[in-house]
Amino acid sequence: MSKQFDVIVIGGGPGGYIAAIRAAQLGFQVACIDEWKNEKGGPAPGGTCTNVGCIPSKALLQSSEHFEQANHHFADHGIKVSDVSIDVAKMIGRKDTVVKQNNDGILYLFKKNKVSFFHGRGSFAKAVEGGYEIQVAGSANETLTGKQIIIATGSNARALPGTPFDEVKVLSNDGALRINAVPKKLALIGSGVIGLEMGSVWRRLGSEVTILEGLPTFLGAVDEQIAKEAKKAFDKQGLKIELGVKVGEIKTTDAGVSVAYTNAKGEALSLDVDKLIVSIGRVPNTIGLNVEAVGLQLDERGAIVVDGDCKTNLPGVWAVGDVVRGPMLAHKAEEEGVAVAERIAGQHGHVNFNTIPWVIYTSPEIAWVGRTEQQLKADGVKYKAGTFPFLANGRARALGDTTGMVKFLADATTDEILGVHIVGPMASELIAEAVVAMEFKASAEDIARICHAHPSLSEATKEAALAVDKRTLNF
Ligand SMILES: Cc1cc2nc3c(=O)[nH]c(=O)nc-3n(C[C@H](O)[C@H](O)[C@H](O)COP(=O)(O)OP(=O)(O)OC[C@H]3O[C@@H](n4cnc5c(N)ncnc54)[C@H](O)[C@@H]3O)c2cc1C
Repeated sequence: MSKQFDVIVIGGGPGGYIAAIRAAQLGFQVACIDEWKNEKGGPAPGGTCTNVGCIPSKALLQSSEHFEQANHHFADHGIKVSDVSIDVAKMIGRKDTVVKQNNDGILYLFKKNKVSFFHGRGSFAKAVEGGYEIQVAGSANETLTGKQIIIATGSNARALPGTPFDEVKVLSNDGALRINAVPKKLALIGSGVIGLEMGSVWRRLGSEVTILEGLPTFLGAVDEQIAKEAKKAFDKQGLKIELGVKVGEIKTTDAGVSVAYTNAKGEALSLDVDKLIVSIGRVPNTIGLNVEAVGLQLDERGAIVVDGDCKTNLPGVWAVGDVVRGPMLAHKAEEEGVAVAERIAGQHGHVNFNTIPWVIYTSPEIAWVGRTEQQLKADGVKYKAGTFPFLANGRARALGDTTGMVKFLADATTDEILGVHIVGPMASELIAEAVVAMEFKASAEDIARICHAHPSLSEATKEAALAVDKRTLNF
């Protein structure tokens, strides 16, 4: 006998677990199925984000940043430390504890919201009158029937053709977060968000890190001025980034990995390293979902085809997060999850793709929302720009971190904020003000006239807004 639900969510990452909670809040009987296993084989909901993505990467970035501070910056504050060393096992153990706290937190939230959790793989069995039959294969095999199905099965790391991940020498994000000793030499392929974050972690801990990037421009999606400033900082730190390379044969040897490549000048080179992290993007995941059984439509990339409301080609079947079009970001997945639950309830769930913030958690951090200067030029929009450097911000000086700037782009006629771009300390937190401002269609003048606490990094945001009208007060 199959168990009946109003809503069945397949996948318990940020898209899925949030959709399940919101649907339960709206009064539906909800099931959430997730197959992720912890090292003991138990449930570990939270998806890529919690287990091998956002959360563990930020835990390691924090640990390695403390190490970097102790080694290179404590002395500036008059703090003397000697023999600073890193216990990698302890650092990884702490990261695992943080992950587990988040897994447990989600299980608690399911209980609190009366979401029925099933640990196993969910797949479509067949369409039935008024819904779908979903098979769960896991610790217990179950058959569930749901009137509405939300798919949130996420994504997997993309491997280089012919070079599968062995997670010992050739690592995806998964293995990169479990390295058990500091590699002497580390190479990364791909200088996107994940490459830069992982490269930063291991460089801070003492690896000689080289990032090989196929594209000729560094961080092409980022505002050019901001990307240049970030590159300068990474160069200074010793993070070697080679642009415009063509990767050739990759051989694993007893000693490690040998990567043949041609650099931007056309020279044939090879790099011998202890470990290689491949961070060249992610592919939507529908493995095991048995989409054929119901005729669910996928695109040429393997993503589930959805409309602007996350509706698939099948009635009552929705899809959210990394498995559909749009940026592969946890908060985008969450927003879609909430919106779909609300649409199922007949409400007007809404996701504003123009105000989704982006963050790279390197040091300096990089964060932005809205359009870049190069996009505005390409779109033929007349704009005004204003920048303010952290060098002229009192709090940044007190912190000892004056790298970078805040940059505002506003419409030349209406002064509406079109984009805000930050490279510098706590950019990940500062960007929230810009997101709120853009969501409310604020002008640069609005931010310039708001009282900001002194001394705070957020004063740089206010000053950059003032700079749009060429009237900074502190620069
Ligand atoms: C190293 C790294 C760092 C990142 N850092 C950030 C960051 O700082 N900020 C940010 O916004 N994003 C970050 N991301 C991206 C973020 O992790 C993803 O965008 C987010 O996890 C997508 O959420 P999702 O719910 O769509 O899918 P996922 O988180 O991938 O969750 C999908 C879940 O579905 C389960 N599943 C799949 N198929 C089935 C099935 N058939 N049955 C049952 N369960 C199934 C999977 O096991 C998984 O638990 C990072 C990613 C990586 C790899």
